Amino acid sequence: MTFFHEIGHSMNADHDDAAEFKNRKKECNPSDEEGGSYLMFPTGTEGLLPNNRAYSHCSLDTISYVLKEKKFIFIFISQLLDIQLIYS
Ligand SMILES: [Zn+2]
Repeated sequence: MTFFHEIGHSMNADHDDAAEFKNRKKECNPSDEEGGSYLMFPTGTEGLLPNNRAYSHCSLDTISYVLKEKKFIFIFISQLLDIQLIYS
């Protein structure tokens, strides 16, 4: 899971408890009873709760923005690595 956390950072995703998401605390920084923390929570988890292996909407909003802005770079890299992108 650390790997996917770092991938999130490389896509410009901040931690789920960052100040920029303070108004979306319930959505992106839920309690264990609400499914647990997401991948971009600053501390690691055991990965046992439903949210532990997923990106929050805060992360996805940032990552999708970067993908849209840098789309040509990802297309280039995917062609180099022969990876098929789902994103269009
Ligand atoms: Zn981090």
